[in-house]
Amino acid sequence: MILAEERRQVVEYASELADLTPGRTGNLSVRDGRDGDAFAITPTGVPYDSFDASDVPVVGVDGEQRDGAMKPSSEVPMHASIYEREDVGAIVHTHSPWSTALAVAREELPPIHYMIVAVGKRVPVAEYAPYGTDELAANIVQAMDEADATASLIENHGLVVTAADLETALENTVHVESLARLYLQTRAAGLEPATLSDEQLETVLEQFESYGQ
Ligand SMILES: [Zn+2]
Repeated sequence: MILAEERRQVVEYASELADLTPGRTGNLSVRDGRDGDAFAITPTGVPYDSFDASDVPVVGVDGEQRDGAMKPSSEVPMHASIYEREDVGAIVHTHSPWSTALAVAREELPPIHYMIVAVGKRVPVAEYAPYGTDELAANIVQAMDEADATASLIENHGLVVTAADLETALENTVHVESLARLYLQTRAAGLEPATLSDEQLETVLEQFESYGQ
């Protein structure tokens, strides 16, 4: 079976989508290495716990399905385009409610908390286009490039997070969602959220580089 490990990861982590996004609206993918030419992606239109590794679709970066018993997510063009960026090993897409509330307002997430540096100094919002289209994929890639971010909101749609591996992409999806919630709750309380300066964010980035075991 091709991409056996990547497909196993899709099966293992798909259930985490259920906690992040309503219904079956999310999808995730894992690339064959950080520069591979194919990826394993969640199948379309089935519950997250109803498939095994052999069902998981394998799609080339050209968008063509190569293997797997089930059809891939309708957001294949988005995943394929984002994999043109270097060092992206996994992608998570959700309609998680707090991030999507910001996306509906067509507002980006500013640096209101130091944890934002997990995905950049801000989370931009990509211009709306119909789901599943190449145009939407291009808008998302452009927004992430311009903001030098690994995540982007999508106008009137949701959130996309990329990372070197799937565990990190899911972890950062949770970070962005909780920051979007903090931001909107602060505003809902009638308070004005303050933002960190570029210098303060640079210091956090240095601290993050030396953090860990
Ligand atoms: Zn979507």
